Amino acid sequence: MPDFPNVTVLDHPLLRHKLTLLRDKTTSTAQFRQVAREISLLMAYEVTRDLPLEPVAIETPLEPMQAERLAGKKLCLVSILRAGNGILDGMLDLVPSARVGHIGLYRDPTTLQAVEYYLKLPTDIAERLVIVVDPMLATGHSAAAAVTRLKQKGVAHLKFVCLLSAPEGLHGFNAAHPDVPVFTAAVDRQLDSHGYIRPGLGDAGDRFYGTR
Ligand code: URA
Repeated sequence: MPDFPNVTVLDHPLLRHKLTLLRDKTTSTAQFRQVAREISLLMAYEVTRDLPLEPVAIETPLEPMQAERLAGKKLCLVSILRAGNGILDGMLDLVPSARVGHIGLYRDPTTLQAVEYYLKLPTDIAERLVIVVDPMLATGHSAAAAVTRLKQKGVAHLKFVCLLSAPEGLHGFNAAHPDVPVFTAAVDRQLDSHGYIRPGLGDAGDRFYGTR
C-alpha cells in the first residue's frame, strides 16, 4: 500500500465476503467464531507465502524423487489476549506444529496505552519466526508494545496479522516497528474517540465470546 510501507492488504474475494459477515451486527457469536476461523486460515496461507523450502529425497509408490519441505526457522504464533485467541485456531489449522505464545495487554481507558499483565512464550522463541496475531489494529499501541516485548526477548523475525486496521494504528505501528510487515484484510476509515475502528466490527473480544 503506497501510504503504508510494509502493509499488505489481503483482499481476496473470499476474505472480503467473510469480513462482511464479521462486520454485520446480526451475525451470531457462533457464526462470528466460525467465520473468523475461516478468515484466519486464509490469512495464514498468505502470510506464510515466503517460507523457505529445502529439497528432500523421498520415494513415491512409483519412484524416488527430490521433493520439497519447509526449511529454516520454525514458527511461533503469539496471540495478544484476549481477542487474538479468536484468530489463533484458524491459523493453527494450517500450521498445526507452530508453537504458541500469549501476551496479555489491556488498554488503559484514559491514556489508551498498553499495559502488560501476562506473558508466556516458548523458551526458544528467539530462534523462531514469530507471527503476532490480534484481530484489531486500532491505535497500534498493543501491537507495538507486544512487538517491543518480543524484540526484548531476542526475536528478530516478526510479522503482524490483523483482520481490520485503522490508518492511525498503521502509522503508529509502522513508526515504532518499520521492520515488521503487517498483513490486514482491510484498512477502515478512522478511529473514533473511544479508540474503536469505524466502521469496524465492534469489540472483537465481545463478538468472539458473547460478553456484551
Ligand atoms: N478493539 C476492538 O475490539 N475493536 C475496535 O474497534 C478497536 C479495538
